Amino acid sequence: MHTAADKAQAARIPRMAERVRGFNESVFSEMTRLAIQHNAVNLSQGFPDFPAPEWLKEAAREAIAANINQYAPSQGSARLRRAIAAKMRTTMGIEWDPDTEITVTNGATEAIYDIIQALVNPGDEVVIFEPFYDSYVPATQVAGGTPRIVTLHAPDWHLDRAELEAAFSERTRLVMLNTPHNPTGKVFTREELSAIAELCLRFDNLAVTDEVYEHLLFDGNEHISLATLPGMRERTVTINSASKTFSVTGWKVGYAVAPPDLTDALRRIHQFVTFCSCAPFQEAVAQALEQAPERGYYNTFREDYAVRLETLLSELHSAGLKPIRPQGTFFVMSDISPLGFENDVQFARYMTAEVGVACIPPSSFYSVSDEGKRLARWCFAKKPETLAAAGERLARWHRNR
Ligand code: PMP
Ligand code: GLN
Repeated sequence: MHTAADKAQAARIPRMAERVRGFNESVFSEMTRLAIQHNAVNLSQGFPDFPAPEWLKEAAREAIAANINQYAPSQGSARLRRAIAAKMRTTMGIEWDPDTEITVTNGATEAIYDIIQALVNPGDEVVIFEPFYDSYVPATQVAGGTPRIVTLHAPDWHLDRAELEAAFSERTRLVMLNTPHNPTGKVFTREELSAIAELCLRFDNLAVTDEVYEHLLFDGNEHISLATLPGMRERTVTINSASKTFSVTGWKVGYAVAPPDLTDALRRIHQFVTFCSCAPFQEAVAQALEQAPERGYYNTFREDYAVRLETLLSELHSAGLKPIRPQGTFFVMSDISPLGFENDVQFARYMTAEVGVACIPPSSFYSVSDEGKRLARWCFAKKPETLAAAGERLARWHRNR
């Protein structure tokens, strides 16, 4: 049975270019829309519901007042690129040249899209770990590349060495990595990164690493950048963003750090995609990076998130939602298989509409394995009262089941 809306949609398809026909609405937009529609507590899309730091908001207001309101240089403001270089010196112990190796983009999302367009030729293969961040596969397809998927297996998200090796070949162009990993909360170990690096060297591939959750680590887990492994600085593009670290997902200030030839390739497309990222927010993020260490910001940030994590874990546990403890990020996956739902999408819709707590069904982050159907993702970047409201609704549901 086709509704009028389905028919109208079908009629519009021929007007779309073939490359976009297979793309659906992002699961983040869909679930936030459903959460609003049902007045549910929104633990789906990953964004903080608490304010950004006051000193950081003041820096943005000051930048606007100081008339930093025209285009920034396409590669990013000089002050921000210097601040990124100083930060990378501390966190990675690597020197990057702000003029030739650092580019500011509209969030990590733009950096991911640009670098894939800049490096992948039609027919090239891109190794992607699933569950994957939602833009990696479409960005690869737009470039004409073919995703080669390697599954991180639940519940411990382990990487099968034989499966990893089998994904690499002469056709591989690059490997797309995300650590700490959304949605599983996995932090790749040095041993796993070494295995990936060894394959990149063996097949002379490039690597892109998305490290937007670098400061969100729990239980003493350590974040290791792939670029710090032997032989990898020359072949790795490291992507990061202010979104998560400074609770400003709406500012869309991200960056890519890469050797000069890869940076040159990235900038050739970046200039035609957005030209530059928001000028006043670049100044504010520069100030954030400059001042964060002396303000003790990163430690407080991590400690505050550790408290939020424990709250959500205990709520999910009490409601019988079998949380899997994350090593990093601000997400918890839970095993919904014993609950009798048909799949994760049915579960997430039910929880949003009937229980009043929205989560993300992760099956759209998988293309090979069907493990996602047994899982749900919950975001804990939320105020205590938001987590408390979610906890109450989950407990009530659990009592009445
Ligand atoms: N990569 C990952 C793994 C993410 O979870 C997100 C979502 N915030 C992004 C990239 C996008 O980051 P940005 O907001 O900087 O575009
Ligand atoms: N990264 C966020 C998440 O995983 C969402 C980003 C977006 O909505 N594009 O939920």
